[in-house]
Amino acid sequence: MTYAEVHQRSLSDREAYWAEQAALVDWQQPFTRVCDNDNPPFTKWFTGGTTNLCHNAVDRHMATRPDAPALIFVSTETGQERVYSFSELHAEVQCMAASLLALGVKQGDRVLVYLPMIPEAAFAMLACARIGAIHSVVFGGFASVSLASRIDDAEPVVVISADAGSRSGKVVAYKPLLDEAIRLAAHKPKAVLMVDRGLSAFERVPGRDADYATLREQHRATVVPCTWVDSTHPSYTLYTSGTTGKPKGVQRDTGGYAVALAASMKQIFMGQPGETFFSTSDVGWVVGHSYIVYGPLIAGMATIMYEGLPTRGMDGQPDAAIWWSLVERYKVTAMFSAPTAVRVLKKQDPAALKKYDLSSLRALFLAGEPLDEPTARWISDALGRPIIDNYWQTESGWPILTVANGIEPRASKFGSPGVPMPGYDVKLVDEATGEELKGANQKGVLVIEGPLPPGFMQTVWRDDARFVKTYWQSVPGRQVYSTFDWGIRDEDGYFFILGRTDDVINVAGHRLGTREIEESISSHPAVAEVAVVGVADNLKGQVAMAFVVLRDAAFAADANDALKLEGDIMKVVDTQLGAVARPARVRFVNSLPKTRSGKLLRRALQAVCEGRDPGDLTTIEDPTALLQIKALFTPA
Ligand code: AMP
Repeated sequence: MTYAEVHQRSLSDREAYWAEQAALVDWQQPFTRVCDNDNPPFTKWFTGGTTNLCHNAVDRHMATRPDAPALIFVSTETGQERVYSFSELHAEVQCMAASLLALGVKQGDRVLVYLPMIPEAAFAMLACARIGAIHSVVFGGFASVSLASRIDDAEPVVVISADAGSRSGKVVAYKPLLDEAIRLAAHKPKAVLMVDRGLSAFERVPGRDADYATLREQHRATVVPCTWVDSTHPSYTLYTSGTTGKPKGVQRDTGGYAVALAASMKQIFMGQPGETFFSTSDVGWVVGHSYIVYGPLIAGMATIMYEGLPTRGMDGQPDAAIWWSLVERYKVTAMFSAPTAVRVLKKQDPAALKKYDLSSLRALFLAGEPLDEPTARWISDALGRPIIDNYWQTESGWPILTVANGIEPRASKFGSPGVPMPGYDVKLVDEATGEELKGANQKGVLVIEGPLPPGFMQTVWRDDARFVKTYWQSVPGRQVYSTFDWGIRDEDGYFFILGRTDDVINVAGHRLGTREIEESISSHPAVAEVAVVGVADNLKGQVAMAFVVLRDAAFAADANDALKLEGDIMKVVDTQLGAVARPARVRFVNSLPKTRSGKLLRRALQAVCEGRDPGDLTTIEDPTALLQIKALFTPA
């Protein structure tokens, strides 16, 4: 069947199509209904069926490939390299599961995972899935205030953490950030399970902090069977930024997710059992969930978990070829990264790409942010392999737009992630009227008609009303899911993504809410008002730029004062949210550009920062605000 036929069938004969895909995973109880959309937009997939994500990722491979590599851990931060076979992974996951049970974790309880890229992060996620607990992984780059808000929302029974992460050889202590987060949070977890890597000494809170090495030793021989859960049982929540300061807990099911991942591994990533998948993301992001941990393992592949920079070798010395050395050593067939990482490599010696045998690699997949044409061409020429852009979101869990070469080989177009994947009824609509834009090359908001396919978020954790209001009521007159991205579609049906319609920004493939950064900056006593916008950046795609009105202009009277204050404000963001959210610059201005009704003119502000025309300014209250900012960005 052609792509067009498969896509058409996935929408017109939805039940039959997904019932077939569901055969890619094991079910304990077969499902009685494929798609229950009786209460839209709350679609339920494979109801009546019971399954388990850990069983599908680990246990079911024990019969056929117990000694095959499953998890390959490589750290250029600590110089460690270790390959876990499926049977070793099976054993490790049971040790972790037994430890969680010993700490009182029950089915449906939340376990918050705040870990660097170490094997225990994968053990923890799989162990939760095994016992029906709901994991909530928080990216290790987030600091105490971000972490505290997630603790309060998820209300975890246990937090799993480590003494430290490491970045470019510099130890980043996690425990003090976690202790501070728990101090700030209203909800107090019963226990903290600590993985001690021996990187940073830390204090243990008596009665609360447990040592993972001790529990692991105690439970070496404990058998923990998989708990069969309903297909609709939440497997995890993952927080993502939106337009308010409060992050949203994206909630995912179990059965639909397993099926969507299994299908995507075949149709999009073309992975076969026994092959090796290498995703350079982090377990704290959705790509890490779907394509470091669950997807490749469900497909019976080995997955590489890499801790470190793309430019640093095992000996801690600069090495721009480290990734490619892993491709050669582990015969990687599919690799997944982000455009930012490629832009970093582009600055290195191009010979790095020719040093190793990359013949095993079939394609490089890139996602998370717009892939610019020069970057795509550079890496495509350098690798001599197809570069496959794929567009999706934390909410979707797997690609919305790409080319599915596993269904039908199809040309990619530079600048376009591709075409809708099976199950996705993607449309473009007019922002103001909600009218569908059917013609070629018309710019509109990218929306998806329900029911959404398996694997897509079920709801916002404990906030169905927010799920409906945020995603399904933003387009006038229609109940469709909004991606909050602008797009166009060309005459061949290929989509192009033109950036967000909301206040979310994308820094180096990391999604950040400008409101969260603004709230953090506002907590500095010198700040009266602040606006944060995303500004185009050659390396990171976008960077956050902060404009601050001070309570007293005298605080930044001269250049030295201003520089010091800028540093202080950045430090506030670092300690509250994490360095990942730190703005590139903090600029002090007399006023912010607003409408007469007091609404910040974000798009105009962003345009001025990027040297573009700010557009219609008839509603602006005080035009001098924008002029002052324009002057800051005009070369003298
Ligand atoms: P996240 O939820 O962090 O994965 O961020 C999702 C957002 O990243 C999307 O809504 C887009 O704005 C952007 N994005 C992800 N992948 C792509 C892509 N391939 N091309 C353009 N933008 C992308």
